[in-house]
Amino acid sequence: MEAPYIMTPGPTEVRDNVRFARSERCTNPDLDIQFYDFYKETCEDIAKFLNTKNQVRILSGEGILGLEAACASLTEEGDRVLVIDNGIYGEGFADFVKLYDGEVVFFKGNRKREIDVDELKKFLDKDSNFKYATVVHCDTPSGMLNNISKICPMLKEKGILTVVDSVSAMGGEKLEVDNWNIDIVVGGSQKCISAPPGLTIISISQEAFEAMKDRKKPIKSFYCNLLIWENYYEEKWFPYTPPISDIVGLKAAVDNILKDKDILKRHREIGKSVRIAVKEAGLNLYNENGYSNTVTAIEVPEGIDESKLRKYMVDNFNVLIAGSFGYLQGRVVRIGHMGENAKKDMVSYTLYSLQKSLENFQFYCHCDMANCFLKNVESFK
Ligand SMILES: *Cc1c(COP(=O)(O)O)cnc(C)c1O
Repeated sequence: MEAPYIMTPGPTEVRDNVRFARSERCTNPDLDIQFYDFYKETCEDIAKFLNTKNQVRILSGEGILGLEAACASLTEEGDRVLVIDNGIYGEGFADFVKLYDGEVVFFKGNRKREIDVDELKKFLDKDSNFKYATVVHCDTPSGMLNNISKICPMLKEKGILTVVDSVSAMGGEKLEVDNWNIDIVVGGSQKCISAPPGLTIISISQEAFEAMKDRKKPIKSFYCNLLIWENYYEEKWFPYTPPISDIVGLKAAVDNILKDKDILKRHREIGKSVRIAVKEAGLNLYNENGYSNTVTAIEVPEGIDESKLRKYMVDNFNVLIAGSFGYLQGRVVRIGHMGENAKKDMVSYTLYSLQKSLENFQFYCHCDMANCFLKNVESFK
């Protein structure tokens, strides 16, 4: 099967050196002691771009595993958990909390706007009796970036542990785990990190580990139990056989990120330039603020069937972009300009093919989107 260009907000394009690394000959990752060092080194490299001294673990499962594992490991029956919600993933955390018998309290924001930090502060001044709070860094279905640099320290000031879903932001947006007081942050291999899907990346503070140890009852899961990963290195024991080829590939992807000194700047410039091109074209961005630099949600013009538009793009230009789901189904299309997709050649071709495809459905842009994008984006390779 020949894949189209996947300009989606994950999975993203995978660089050749990552694909080749995945084909290396494997050792036995449980019994070959060298692999424990390789795993640890990979975690430590990830910690560098998370800006943290906290422990990092790589779990065998897509990003959802990390979200569930955080909730499974922290939640005990009756624990009050604050679920900060201004999007589909934000709301989705509630399902995991309930699965593990926690009591969900929502803080609901406007779904077109980033979480209002002042409103949240007012809310917390009235009620801050929560074991932990969940918040999404970038809520991908709407391309909503929340200001976790303000939100997490505020929660911690109230003694609330912080759990952040940064699956579609980690590696593409600034993330300062220690400075921002994030107890648990979850990422995935297939978004900005640009390795194939299959791995969760999770950093866990000592305080979060302590909360897991202080539980009255044991964690009601094995696969989602973060505590069993605490001392894997000292004990030379993994809870289950690690997917070695996935991790070797991830290491190559992480090395790519660490070598790429301009990576965040590039994401910012590309994100901003896409938004300018979209607006000048006479299209509407879905959000009113809180624009993500990793994914842009564009409203589908009246009368155009989003799935037909996307099919036309694949059939005629070999570019795959995304629709959305939940309440956004059929209303927006999304371009993922994260990780390996955050390249001006790919993004400009995507905008060109979107424009041509819109024309096929009788929507005429007010500018040449690719040109407008290229004019704005700073010059880098
Ligand atoms: C991609 C993503 C996940 C993982 O979900 P999948 O739909 O299984 O890929 C979790 N949270 C966010 C914000 C994501 O973008």
